Amino acid sequence: MTARAQIGVTGLAVMGRNLARNFARHGYTVAVHNRSFAKTQSLVADHGDDGDFVPSESMADFVASLERPRKVVIMVKAGGPTDAVIAELVPLLEQGDIIIDAGNAHFPDTRRREAELKEKGLHFVGTGVSGGEEGALNGPSIMPGGAPESYETLGPILEDISAKVDGVPCCTYVGPDGAGHFVKMVHNGIEYADMQLIAEAYDLLKQGLGASAQEIGQIFAEWNKGDLESFLIEITADVLQHVDAETGKAFVDIILDRAEQKGTGRWTVQNALDLGVPITGIAEATFARALSGSVPQRSAAVGVLPADAGQWEITDRDAFIEDVRRALYSSKVVAYSQGFDQIAAASEEFGWGIDRGAMARIWRGGCIIRARFLNRITEAYERDENLALLLADPYFTQTVGEGVSSWRRVVSQAALNGVPTPAFSSSLAYYDGVRAERLPAALIQAQRDFFGAHTYHRVDKEGVFHTEWSGDRSESNA
Ligand code: NAP
Repeated sequence: MTARAQIGVTGLAVMGRNLARNFARHGYTVAVHNRSFAKTQSLVADHGDDGDFVPSESMADFVASLERPRKVVIMVKAGGPTDAVIAELVPLLEQGDIIIDAGNAHFPDTRRREAELKEKGLHFVGTGVSGGEEGALNGPSIMPGGAPESYETLGPILEDISAKVDGVPCCTYVGPDGAGHFVKMVHNGIEYADMQLIAEAYDLLKQGLGASAQEIGQIFAEWNKGDLESFLIEITADVLQHVDAETGKAFVDIILDRAEQKGTGRWTVQNALDLGVPITGIAEATFARALSGSVPQRSAAVGVLPADAGQWEITDRDAFIEDVRRALYSSKVVAYSQGFDQIAAASEEFGWGIDRGAMARIWRGGCIIRARFLNRITEAYERDENLALLLADPYFTQTVGEGVSSWRRVVSQAALNGVPTPAFSSSLAYYDGVRAERLPAALIQAQRDFFGAHTYHRVDKEGVFHTEWSGDRSESNA
C-alpha cells in the first residue's frame, strides 16, 4: 500500500461520506474507511468521480495509505464508538500523527482523549462541524480544538473545505483540548434558542392574527430581507409555505407537536449550571422541547387546567407583526449574549483563550445558525475583545433598545391571552435583570444568613457579616 493520501476519513455514514467527498472535490487524495466495508464501496461507486479516493477494508490498510504526519478524521457515532475507533487506530499510528474527531463529542470526553493521546505522542483534535449533511458536502463551519501545532498542518486543509463568507473561511483554531467541541456545543445550544424563539413568533402570529401557515411563511420571508436574515428564518418561511401532498393541508399542521433533543442542548444547559452562567434562553428552549414531549402531563392538563385568558384584539395588524419581529430580534440577541458569556466563562475556567469575535465570524456561513447579524457580533468583539456583555455593545444597546417596548407588549399580550412564550419571556426577564440597579438577591442573602448562617456583604462597608437571628440580632464579622 503506497502512503499517498493526504487525509483519511473513517466513518462513512451521511456526515463522513459528505466530508470525504468535500475533501476530494478540493483536490485532496482521501483515504476512506468504514467499519462495514459496504459503505466504503458505495461511496467510491457512487461518487468516485468527485476526486481521488483510496478505499480500504481494514484499518491497517487505511492507515498505511496515509502520508505522514497522518491526518485521520473520525466521523462515527459519538461516545463509545469514537473510543472504539481510537483504540483501533492508536497501535497503527506514529508520533506526530493527528486524529481528528469531527463527531458531536461531549467536550469532557475530548479533554480526556486529548490528554491520553498526548502521552502517546499523538495529536488529538476535537473538532466541531456544523451544517448537517449539506454543509459537510459543500462547506461546513469548522471549530477545531487541540494543540496549536496540529493546526499548522491541519488548519489549511480544513479552511480549504469550510464555507466561505466574503472570501473568509468559516474555520479557525478555537483553543486547546476540548475548546472546539465546547464551542460547537454552545453553537447547538444557541440553535435551540433560535429555533424556539422562531416557533414562539410563529405561534403568536398564528394565535394573535389568526393567520394561516402560508401567510406566516410570507411574513418570515419578508423578515428574512432585514436584520433577521438567517438560514433558520429562511427555512421557516419555506417550511410554513409547504403543503402536505396527502392531505392538502399546511405541512406544519400535520406534524406531531413533540420536539426531540439529541443531547447538545442538554449538555449546554448542564455546563452552564456548573459554570454558574445564566443561559436562560437556551435553557427555556431545551425545557420547551421537554414539555412538548411530556405526553402524560399534557394529556392530564389539556381541557382541564383553567385558562382564564383574554381574547386577542389586534387592531393594527402591521404594528403587531412589527412588535413580534422586534421581540424576536431582541430575544435572539439575549440568547447569543448569554451563549458568548458561557464561552467566556469556560475559556477562563479551562485556560482556552477563545476569541469570541472569531467564533461569531466562523458561524457566519456553513452552519445552522448562520445569520447576517453575526457580522455585528464580530464587530462588537473587535471594538472590545474584553466586552463583558454583548448586549452592552453600543450597536446592540441601540438596536435592542429600539425594540424594548415592542418586546414588553408582546410578552404581556402573550401572558394575558394564555400563549406560552418561555423563551421570549425569560429573555426579557434576563434583560431587565441584568440592567437592574438593585436585585432582590439582597433578600435571598438575608434569608440564607437567617436559616444557615451563610453570611452576607454590606453595601456600606467592607467585610463579611452574620446576624445572630435566633439570639439578640447583633451583627458580627464572620
Ligand atoms: P451516525 O449515525 O452518528 O454514525 C454512524 C457511523 O458510525 C457509521 O459509519 C457506523 O459504521 C459508525 N459506527 C457506529 N458504531 C461504531 C463502532 N463501534 N465502531 C466503528 N464504527 C462505528 O453518523 P452521522 O449522522 O454521519 O454522524 C457522524 C457524527 O457526526 C456523529 O458524531 C454526529 O453526532 C455528528 N454530526 C452529525 C450531524 C448530522 O447532521 N447528522 C451534524 C453534525 C455532526 P457502520 O456503517 O459499520 O455501522
